[in-house]
Amino acid sequence: MGYGFVENLAFLWDCVLGLIYCNDEKCVLCKKDIYDGENICRTCKDNIKICRDRFQIESNNCQFNCYSSSYYSGAMMELIIKLKYKNSFKSGDIIASYMKDTICNNNIHFDVLTYVPMTRKSFKKRGYNQGEYLARTLGKHFRKPVVHCLTKTKDTMDQIGLSREERWNNIYGSFKVYNSCCIKGKSVLLVDDVLTTGATAFCCGSELLKNGAKKINILTGAKSRV
Ligand SMILES: [Zn+2]
Repeated sequence: MGYGFVENLAFLWDCVLGLIYCNDEKCVLCKKDIYDGENICRTCKDNIKICRDRFQIESNNCQFNCYSSSYYSGAMMELIIKLKYKNSFKSGDIIASYMKDTICNNNIHFDVLTYVPMTRKSFKKRGYNQGEYLARTLGKHFRKPVVHCLTKTKDTMDQIGLSREERWNNIYGSFKVYNSCCIKGKSVLLVDDVLTTGATAFCCGSELLKNGAKKINILTGAKSRV
């Protein structure tokens, strides 16, 4: 009886705390209780390595400005894996909040957002495109339209284990623009979760440019050190 009483008291105390803080959320990564309305705790946040550099990806005399909010390691790597393979949209919201900061801190201007597409087969398997989720979250925040204008026409080999040159060859020619009217004369922000060699983003960017986009900026949640 005594044990039951203590248990009930603990439960009641939790309810009171829940009412006081109006939030009984747990950190999406370490499951520690948090009371500040965010989905990630301070310790996990401190584990994210912010990337402040703007860099360029280029090939054949064509180059794009590229921004990544963080490095692909530690807590950010876990967030991306959770968004990509475990349907964790809360993780997606955290990644997008870092991307919002990158847009504001770098004064990135854009008319529309788009994202790196998946093949129909991969989309069916996963049920959603993580890049599209990030683009839509950012679009909602900045009140800019998200356009679905790129399509992935061939299934590429997994990029893991390929050399830099092999990655570029693997991805080259696999993306096409199918409704160019959405991007004609527009400044486009191309969104993806992770940037590795930049081959995927570059191929998408050059297709957008070929089809009438005025300017392309690339933004990813993380950048992996290859
Ligand atoms: Zn945590």
